[in-house]
Amino acid sequence: MGNVTRSLDRSGCEWLQYDYRSALMTPDRPGSFSMWRYRKLLPVADGPVRYPLPIGGTPLLPAPALRKTLGTPRLWIKDETRNPTASNKDRATALVIEDGLRRGMDTITTASTGNAAVATAFGAAAAGMRAVIFVSADCRPEKLALMAQAGAWVFQVRDGYAAAVDLSRAAARSFGWLDRNTGANPLTIEAKKTVAFEVWEQLGRRLPDLMILPVGDGPTLVALDKGFTELVNCGLTTRKPRLIGIQAEHCQPLVRAWQDTPAKPADLDPTATVADGIAVLRPAIGEAALTVTRQSGGAMMAVTDTALLSAVSTLADTAGVNAEPAGAAALAGLNNAIAHGLADPSESVVLLVTGRETKASGEPAEQGRVTLIDTLDQVEHALTESH
Ligand SMILES: *Cc1c(COP(=O)(O)O)cnc(C)c1O
Repeated sequence: MGNVTRSLDRSGCEWLQYDYRSALMTPDRPGSFSMWRYRKLLPVADGPVRYPLPIGGTPLLPAPALRKTLGTPRLWIKDETRNPTASNKDRATALVIEDGLRRGMDTITTASTGNAAVATAFGAAAAGMRAVIFVSADCRPEKLALMAQAGAWVFQVRDGYAAAVDLSRAAARSFGWLDRNTGANPLTIEAKKTVAFEVWEQLGRRLPDLMILPVGDGPTLVALDKGFTELVNCGLTTRKPRLIGIQAEHCQPLVRAWQDTPAKPADLDPTATVADGIAVLRPAIGEAALTVTRQSGGAMMAVTDTALLSAVSTLADTAGVNAEPAGAAALAGLNNAIAHGLADPSESVVLLVTGRETKASGEPAEQGRVTLIDTLDQVEHALTESH
């Protein structure tokens, strides 16, 4: 681990900086291609990694058939569905739990649109921690079933995802739990930035011209930019890729902010889109996402549900990649970006495919661990009842 400096930005978010030099990108263990390879640029002290699941080191696929279909000879897919619970949320979960294990914490909490919760439930199960999860009441039943199967406590919050975030953060403060919430825990950005390092290494220590990715709360995009910036700060590259962030037409607060046009109610309905993974009404670090997108020379764009579903099919039948609709958003976005002159088919482009469709079979670990609630008192009650 390099020297770490912590600072707060205007919105109260904490950021970590290192004493940048090229040696920090030297792999921790040269033969291993996992997230921990970049430990010198992560706030993880020496000693064995305790987090038991394999993490990161996901493939960068050349997708020859997809290249041919689209006429994009330098297209790549960074396949984040190959993480242990099939989404990029596993990286943040791993680093937060690693930190918690080192500090002797026994409970982790997060709010989630679904995938962060599944990653937290399974990661906690692997690490022997208790997971207490807050989701919107309309969270997809398939994802709820997975969380329950991994033995998590799941609280469905009637007032939606924003209220779930408030409750999870309040619970972390009141009960002293490990807080994995985006915007609350800078380790989520630290972990997700490793995607930038991997892409750089996988392209032969070079960066693409353009990276396209789905955006919900903003950390995936902000972290990617932080990773690219750290490569610049380490003196390993001079130019960062343009970033194009993709949202769903039915829930596109950041696209409207980008265009400086007021959002209509039909643009802000998280329940109306198939892209549940990125259906966020009030993005936790939306301002930062807009700023780094602007600085990169990129854009924020919206895509329709029809385009998302078609991207799911195209990824399946031309690249052999199984994605959920939010996970396929980058491909839908590439088509849009080319159509609008924001991407050139001849440039090098990496699509970040963030999540796969998954389902649970069998029974939940314990009955009655999924509860509909409105207040923190009800959470405390449910947890103490069980003892
Ligand atoms: C969480 C998530 C994203 C990106 O969301 P951010 O909150 O912006 O980091 C993208 N795709 C899927 C499938 C996700 O679960």
